[in-house]
Amino acid sequence: MASAGRTGVGTNQEDVRRHNLGTVLGHVHGAGRISRSDLTSRMGLNRSTIGGLVGELEALGLTAKGKSVGARAGVGRPSVDVLAGPGAVVLAADVRVDGLSVARVGLGGIVQARATGPAPAGHDPEVTADSVAELMRLVLKDIDPSVPVVGVGAAVPGIVRADDGFVRLAPNLGWHEVPFSALLAERLGGGMRPVLGNDADLGAVSEHLRGAGVGVDDLVYLSGEVGVGAGVVVAGRPLEGAGGYAGEIGHVPFVPDGKLCHCGARGCWETEVGGVAIAAAVGCPPDRIPSLGEFLDGIHEASPELRQVAWHIGRGLAGMVNLLNPRVIVLGGYLRPLLPLVRDDVDAAFAEHALAAPRELARITLPGLGADSVLVGAAELAFGRLLQDPVGTLTDSYASAGSVVA
Ligand SMILES: [Zn+2]
Repeated sequence: MASAGRTGVGTNQEDVRRHNLGTVLGHVHGAGRISRSDLTSRMGLNRSTIGGLVGELEALGLTAKGKSVGARAGVGRPSVDVLAGPGAVVLAADVRVDGLSVARVGLGGIVQARATGPAPAGHDPEVTADSVAELMRLVLKDIDPSVPVVGVGAAVPGIVRADDGFVRLAPNLGWHEVPFSALLAERLGGGMRPVLGNDADLGAVSEHLRGAGVGVDDLVYLSGEVGVGAGVVVAGRPLEGAGGYAGEIGHVPFVPDGKLCHCGARGCWETEVGGVAIAAAVGCPPDRIPSLGEFLDGIHEASPELRQVAWHIGRGLAGMVNLLNPRVIVLGGYLRPLLPLVRDDVDAAFAEHALAAPRELARITLPGLGADSVLVGAAELAFGRLLQDPVGTLTDSYASAGSVVA
């Protein structure tokens, strides 16, 4: 539906104002709270213009006033902080091979409610969409029904075409050309148009904005799930590639004539370091992979098999660092509980195979957002439209929480 105010006298000014509203909201959303004077200097606008924009966002419930916590005593007037407001939420889903996580997320990236469920047997796309929609209704149950849901974002472990929400290929789900966005939209109703992203890409986005990569312009987020993918941020921007498919590091050829991969090739990196390889190394039966994290938490000393996996991880990270020269590499998914167990082996293999110059700049670390990187990244995707055009998005045909629950 077309948003109002696009035609007539003063369109340009109106466009600029809307754009500025989105930019202000983006700063507040990214920081959670920010002083008016910081906003003034970041946007290069004068104090009264910022005041007007903030006032408008506040009237929409998208920001709120807060007493400044960072104001220095005796320097001018006390600055008022602008906080993320309660007037809009998004729904986020993390569709994994081993389970489903859904959250209701507010501005500022605050997870307000969450629900988890098992991955449907066989990963049937229709049943998966049923389950995700059901979990989304659950997280909306206790919300004020007047609060609009301004977007839905879902992370999928595969190659996603963002334009039309098609999953081109998710090898470990067995999905090929699945219109997952449309399947989910049908079940949610209310004019929702879910946006899809690759899980690792979204982990990189959220870790860059709010986690271990804040202030870092070159980082890699590795989603070490059953499959392994990389989300790459280069010079502060996501690396997409020609079709948006960059980062499929799990399918980089690694072992000549190695194990058969779900993608159809042999010897891909993830056949040595993915969830299945880790599970085999710690004696976790394949049907218990959803609880592999707990399995790893219960281990205090790495077996030779697990140390071998760690060696392969270190070699793979070395290749990545030689290629991309990141400052931070964030290890998510099963790599998160694994790393503390095998840190020395990972570091040794990494040191042996990475070139000194990029190696010295790279820090291998755990996610700042814990297990939530991908879920929060899916929420960032869902907030995209609101941050582009807050007024247009709120006046559009998006559903209020009430109509999704109904
Ligand atoms: Zn593969």
